[in-house]
Amino acid sequence: VGTGMQLGGVREVALQKAPPLSQVLLNIIPTNPIKALAEGNILQIIFFAILFGIAISKAGKAGEPVKDFLEAVAQTMYRLVNLVLYYAPIGVFSLIAWTVGTHGLGVLKPFAYLIFLFYLGCAIQLFLVYGGLLRLLKIRPFRFFGRIKEAPFFAFSTCSSSATLPVTMRVVQGTGVSATTASFVLPMGASINMDGTAIYQAMCVVFLANAFGMHLTVAQMAIVGVTALLASIGTAGVPGSGLIMLTMVLGSVGVPVEGIAFVAGIDRIMDMARTAVNVVDDS
Ligand code: ASP
Repeated sequence: VGTGMQLGGVREVALQKAPPLSQVLLNIIPTNPIKALAEGNILQIIFFAILFGIAISKAGKAGEPVKDFLEAVAQTMYRLVNLVLYYAPIGVFSLIAWTVGTHGLGVLKPFAYLIFLFYLGCAIQLFLVYGGLLRLLKIRPFRFFGRIKEAPFFAFSTCSSSATLPVTMRVVQGTGVSATTASFVLPMGASINMDGTAIYQAMCVVFLANAFGMHLTVAQMAIVGVTALLASIGTAGVPGSGLIMLTMVLGSVGVPVEGIAFVAGIDRIMDMARTAVNVVDDS
């Protein structure tokens, strides 16, 4: 996907060379977390954040104010992102209009292909991966899907795992899961467990790398896999947040972040499917 789009010519972007895998692994451990933040070194930031999170929970009561503070910062950042996203349609409209105007309607074909492949990926995840796992647990997949279907349909139309949570809770308990298990697993799942989002982010990185004329090595694809998984954990269960976290995955292999603007135009269509997969995943 994405080959032949030649976005590299649309705008001058500086393509960075990615370092070898061994170097990337060694580079994950930050010597200076503040420097990592300032330079936007994603893997180092995540590594530090995980350790910091573990330390907060180990600190118990003494760590509570830090946790509350970070929660408040997160809420504020969501607002900030919302403000920016409010103007995004104007930017996306202008960019796509300009691209189609300059390169012709054919330039949109790769997007249609990306959407098709993404939906195919979601179907594979739903029916082969989850279906297989359910079979392992001796649960009949289609009966299970039939009983919880209201949750993915709701997620498909709202694009929000969090907004779907009450529905997910109800349908999952309807399959015989206890209220205790459901109320422990589902709220946590709605905020950190996002397979659909991880698939989407990985696909978009490959798409944009091809579009920018970059060749991703197998090692870089492995990095994309790991970073997409981590980014999906950090994605909030609200519409469009997977797109924001995509910047992180793009940055991990040096794909120009500018590419975001191109996939933003088709984000809603992909958000619908990934959110549906996310809630089935939780269920
Ligand atoms: N909309 C998704 C969700 O709520 C998150 C995302 O944007 O990927 O599950």
